[in-house]
Amino acid sequence: MSTEQGNSPLVLIVDDHPDNVEVLQARLDALGYRTACASDGETALQMVAESPPDLILLDVMMPRMDGNEVARRIKADKSLPFIPIIMQTALDSTQSKVFGLDSGADDYVTKPINYAELQARMAAALRVKALQDRVAQMAITDALTGLYNRRHLDERLDEMFEHSVRLHEPLSVVMFDLDHFKKVNDTYGHQVGDVVLTQFAQLLKHVARDIDRIGRYGGEEFMVLLPGTVLDAGVTFAKRARQEVETHQFEYEGGVLECSISAGVAAYPHPRIHTRQQLVKAADDALYVAKTTGRNRVVRFADPEFNANVKEVDDQHAHGAVDGGAARPG
Ligand code: GH3
Ligand code: MG
Ligand code: MG
Repeated sequence: MSTEQGNSPLVLIVDDHPDNVEVLQARLDALGYRTACASDGETALQMVAESPPDLILLDVMMPRMDGNEVARRIKADKSLPFIPIIMQTALDSTQSKVFGLDSGADDYVTKPINYAELQARMAAALRVKALQDRVAQMAITDALTGLYNRRHLDERLDEMFEHSVRLHEPLSVVMFDLDHFKKVNDTYGHQVGDVVLTQFAQLLKHVARDIDRIGRYGGEEFMVLLPGTVLDAGVTFAKRARQEVETHQFEYEGGVLECSISAGVAAYPHPRIHTRQQLVKAADDALYVAKTTGRNRVVRFADPEFNANVKEVDDQHAHGAVDGGAARPG
């Protein structure tokens, strides 16, 4: 989004009268805004879908689709970020303002436009947007590492899994867990532990592709979603990450330390994986085998090594459940 990139805000001007558009555009350009224009509602909706602006100046009276309908559709589209809409109405009646606000407009100005007033209202609307964007970002982010949080990752996985099933495309899931991480905390303190988690997150970002989704799944457990990736390639990715961590000097105030990670990899399609829950559990079980067979390694679901060790996994799972405690390491 342009506001996040530090560019000047992008304002979409929607008006069926070219003269109005021209005047508005010149004014906004002079004020340092970036502008885009649409002369009817359909075009405006298309432009919004293609690249959401930071603000919309929307004329109410337009042929075919009026501004109220455009506002209603934009506000109903949950895939869009929050985009403030300022209605421009020629009718200075309370009724038409109320109708506009009811349709989803956030504010309005009356024509002929008073530009000082418009500028103030735009600034206010953009302040609200900046706040909304921040809240939306925080809702999907893990505060410590800046990676996606578990909830967002689960949502993305839902989408990706459904997409994979529909289009018969592969999807790999990798679960990572830092080895003996408790010892890092015990030896160096919780703050250094946090530094290690943050640096590990950076390493994962570095190894992953742009389309991969990386998240912190739990305390020192991370999950990476690799769309369009078969199991072999998922394993290759996990091995690279494991190697990067093994050779990385984790720097903290006062020294460096070394760490290792274990990983479990699973992929769809697989004869035993039919749901996203099964996919995650498969990766998790593979991670568990990696832990019980020595750590600092990558295990894939469900190769011979996995199968040879998985009985023990299930037994210990059952044991943990009976005890009601988390018997699992990692
Ligand atoms: P294993 O190799 O079996 O994974 O051993 P482990 O010590 O890594 O696993 P265990 O689950 O016993 O301990 C995980 C530790 O991670 C304990 C917990 O205090 C620590 N931890 C979880 N979240 C955070 C965090 O946000 N910051 C820090 N510093 N430590 C955390
Ligand atoms: Mg753990
Ligand atoms: Mg661990």
